Amino acid sequence: MIVGGEHAAPEHTPDRPSWTCRACRQTWPCDPARKSLREQYTEDPTVTALYLSSQQQDYLDDTPNYEIDHLYERFFAWVR
Ligand SMILES: [Zn+2]
Repeated sequence: MIVGGEHAAPEHTPDRPSWTCRACRQTWPCDPARKSLREQYTEDPTVTALYLSSQQQDYLDDTPNYEIDHLYERFFAWVR
């Protein structure tokens, strides 16, 4: 499998700074991203939580007018 090739199908990762999914254009984390992160969380909660924290931090850097009330729901509430 070629990783990171330019012609690879897009994965369900955020397109910055819009924070829509590269693959399905939903607001990230989209449903497929949540599903795979939930599976990852079951195997390794610490790594997954750290990943989501760093994604949230990047989101804050990209989004000056973020809605703080929605942050937890968007990045953490669904994972467990
Ligand atoms: Zn997606």
